[in-house]
This record gives sequence, C-alpha cells and structure tokens, in this order.
Amino acid sequence: MTNQQATHVAVIGGGILGVSTAAHLARGGAQVTLVTAGALADGASGRSIAWLNSSGDRSAPYHYLRLLGLDRYRTRLARHPESRHYLRFDGALKWAAPDESLRQTFDYERAGGYDAIWLDRAGVAELAPDVNADAVAAEGAIFNPGEGWVNLPDLIAALAAEAVAAGTRIVEKAGHARVDVTDGVATGVVLGDGTVLPADHVVLATGGDVPAQLGALGVSVPDATPSAFVLFTGPVDVEVKTVLNTPRVAIRPTPDGRLVLDADWAEKSVVVGDDGAITVPEESVQGLLDEASKVLAGNPKLTAHRVGAGLKPIPGDGDPVVGAVPTIDRLHVVFTHSGATLGLILGELVAEEVLTGAPSPVLRAFGLDRFTDGADLGEVGIGAWAPVPQR
Ligand SMILES: Cc1cc2nc3c(=O)[nH]c(=O)nc-3n(C[C@H](O)[C@H](O)[C@H](O)COP(=O)(O)OP(=O)(O)OC[C@H]3O[C@@H](n4cnc5c(N)ncnc54)[C@H](O)[C@@H]3O)c2cc1C
Repeated sequence: MTNQQATHVAVIGGGILGVSTAAHLARGGAQVTLVTAGALADGASGRSIAWLNSSGDRSAPYHYLRLLGLDRYRTRLARHPESRHYLRFDGALKWAAPDESLRQTFDYERAGGYDAIWLDRAGVAELAPDVNADAVAAEGAIFNPGEGWVNLPDLIAALAAEAVAAGTRIVEKAGHARVDVTDGVATGVVLGDGTVLPADHVVLATGGDVPAQLGALGVSVPDATPSAFVLFTGPVDVEVKTVLNTPRVAIRPTPDGRLVLDADWAEKSVVVGDDGAITVPEESVQGLLDEASKVLAGNPKLTAHRVGAGLKPIPGDGDPVVGAVPTIDRLHVVFTHSGATLGLILGELVAEEVLTGAPSPVLRAFGLDRFTDGADLGEVGIGAWAPVPQR
C-alpha cells in the first residue's frame, strides 16, 4: 500500500465494514474521518450470528474471498491474543432436517479441500459435548473444525481504537449522512445537520441503507435485504463452544456467557409496519428458546435477554457489492451479506484500492458493473447442493 498522507478519506457507516475500512486506510497512511448515524456497531454488526465460514454453494471467486476472510481472522488472532475472548475458531456443526441429507455437501466440502469431518451421534457426543447428540440427524452431522465466530461489537471497538490511534476522527451521532456529489465526483459528506465535510474520496458502508443511498445518486443496485432478528439469551450454565447450524435454530456463544440465536423460520415471522418498524412475535422468541434448548446437552432452560432486530444487508444476487462506483468518481461502496466473515478482508482490499487507485483482482467479480455489463462471476461449484444455511 502506498503512503498518501495527503489523502483525506471519509467513510460513512460505523459497522464492521466501515470501521474495518477506516482502520486499514489509517494504517496505510490516509487521513480518515468516519461518520455514522448513531453509535458504532448499532446496525447489523451488533445483531449478527457472525459465524465465520465458507460453507455452502459459492462461486469460486466468492469462496476464495471468504477463505481470505478466514485467513485474516486467524492472523489477527495470532497477533492479538487478547481477541480470544471475542474471536474463536472452535469449529461449527451442522446437520440436516429429517427429510434432507448433508452427504452431498460433505462430499463437496471434502473434494474442495474444505476441512470437514463426518460424525455419527456418538462422534458428536465425543467431539462436541455441549450438543445433545440425540437431537442430531440420524445420518449424522458435518463438523467443520476451521470455522468459528466473532463478536463484532468487540472487534469494531478494537479496530476503532487502532484507527483513532493512527489519527482517524470518528464522528458518532452524525445523523443521516449522504455523499456530496458535484459534477459526477464525490467531494465529501453532508452530515444529518447539513454540515459539509470535504474529502478526497468517500467510502459508503451503510449496510442495509446502501441501495437507497446509491439510488438517490442515480445508481441502482439489486437489493434482497430482509428484516431479521437475533435473540440474545440470558446467561447460560452450559459451556457452548461450537457454532451450531441445525434445521430449526442457529446458535453461537457470546463473550459474556450468553447465546445468540436465529433461524430462517423466525426471520420470516417478523412483521414490518408501514413505517419500517419491526415487530418480533412472542411465539418466535419462545420458539427459538425451545429449539435451542432441544439441541443443547442437558436441555438447559433458556431465557430471553434481548431481541436485536433490523435490516440484514443482502445484495440482490447474494454476492458482495464492493469497489469503485462506475458513474461517480472517488466513491467506493461496500455492501454485503456475510460481513462478519468478510469484515477484515474487505476493509483491507477497499482501503488498498482507495490508496493505490488500482482495482483489486480479488474484487473483480464483485463490482457494481456486473449488474450492467454481465461481468463473469467465475465458475460455480460442482453438482447440486443439499440445503446449507447461507450466512
Ligand atoms: C441476523 C443476522 C445474522 C447474520 N449472520 C451472519 C453470519 O453468521 N456470518 C456472517 O459472516 N455474517 C452474518 N451476518 C451478516 C453480517 O452481520 C453483516 O453483513 C455485517 O454486520 C454488515 O456490516 P455493515 O458494516 O455493512 O453494516 P451495519 O453493521 O448495518 O453498519 C452500517 C452502519 O451505518 C450506519 N448508517 C446507516 N445509514 C447511515 C447514514 N445515512 N449515515 C450515517 N450512518 C449510517 C448505521 O447506523 C450502522 O451503524 C448476519 C446478519 C444478521 C442481521
């Protein structure tokens, strides 16, 4: 990365993608101002299962990007051993619903060299004693030893501290900020109160708000962002280490001894009002607690602590949207699902593009131009996949 002290970059969005980009920009020598509407981590990053993985059916470029994402987390863990309380690679377990099978998925993962072990129920009991082995599918389960989880608010706080130490200015409670564009060039950011913040380059990382903000600039991006929620439980007595993706509930532990739960069926149950307000049915909260209790050893009684509801940013075709905005000079965008897995690597690559002006070959498949130019996304994986949660 070149050292361009004079470059002032404004980053909009205080989630993992904005903060990671800001930290990498500052590390590369840029003068950075990060503005966010409310507090850091108050969006999707504060209410994510944040399973670190490249499980599932992906294009080759997307699988590669996710593997780089995992790589950066391992390096960070090695360099920052203190992150161990919020960043773990204790593995993940998944099994199929009664009328489905994960055998093909397992074969696919093994064929691609992705670390996967097939376990029968006895094997689950031995390798993951936190799991109720009787709840596992009769055929068994896939254990992915190289997967893990991260508690994004902790990571965001650590990255923000690094960025500030390198001279970054962080402006919280900036209100609804927007990109200032003059004659097709991004010239800075207009904060919610109308204050104009000039900048040489702008990075838009506002999660589920990205499509509307780009839309206001005349740039359309296909959007599949749903409303979603996770449930934080009260403190649990059982030690849960493994990330669990089961047919009725996904589970990961938190640094403070709770669990985070979600499920597709629960996501579909939320009611969105005309004003965008999200209501989570009480039955869905209780249903998640019940489903989680069933799959944990000893069927512990779980209580609800807090619901985290809001948008789950997902581009229309499911793949990340990252890179320079073709029609507006000096503007980058980063809008993606799986932003936990991709948080470190995307922040690094976007910062590198901004600082060097050179497009990253790794990001070639993920530009906005793919929606207009039909860019080649690379080869898609072999064979048909059994349903695997896409996170
Ligand atoms: C229920 C759920 C489960 C998930 N599970 C996983 C998983 O298992 N694995 C995984 O890898 N990923 C997972 N994800 C995805 C991951 O959490 C997100 O991709 C990631 O957190 C997105 O980060 P972000 O920085 O883009 O957006 P956000 O975290 O939403 O941050 C955007 C920020 O921008 C601010 N903002 C918005 N508009 C403006 C504006 N106009 N002006 C100023 N600020 C603004 C917001 O206040 C917010 O702070 C999950 C997400 C959800 C919701």
